[in-house]
Amino acid sequence: MSDIRIGQGYDVHKLAEGEALILCGIKIDYHKGTIAHSDGDVAIHALCDAILGALALGDIGQHFPDTSDKFKNIDSTILLTEVMKMINTHGYILGNADITLALEEPKMRPYIMAMRARLAPLLGTDISRISIKATTTEHLGFTGRGEGIAAYASVLLLERL
Ligand code: MG
Repeated sequence: MSDIRIGQGYDVHKLAEGEALILCGIKIDYHKGTIAHSDGDVAIHALCDAILGALALGDIGQHFPDTSDKFKNIDSTILLTEVMKMINTHGYILGNADITLALEEPKMRPYIMAMRARLAPLLGTDISRISIKATTTEHLGFTGRGEGIAAYASVLLLERL
């Protein structure tokens, strides 16, 4: 039997008026956006951490420190591409990915297909292996108050035969 590895990731970014909101590499039309050293794409950050977790290679902050000017305002899809190279060099391929976004608004439904289509080529897999879901937190907590967005990601890596 070939080796399989599972990983999970979690990320949070604060929301502020007038900032850009980018989730899963897609620009979202909203009056608030994430404050971050990078482009603040919490979903891709959680996904990178899930992959790094599956490979037991630490976390995104270790590989792409937010103290480095090199990563200032960086497009997070570039970070994901770097993490995908690590999957490859370690002899794995991505089996599937499942992402959950927790935010009160705006509604994610109109963006889900575009997000999956954006991530599929970056993850080197078919759109049918990428799931993106969103939930509100019923006005509870920092996500419920619109102070921030949280993202959870799980991935399965398969040994490349
Ligand atoms: Mg982050």
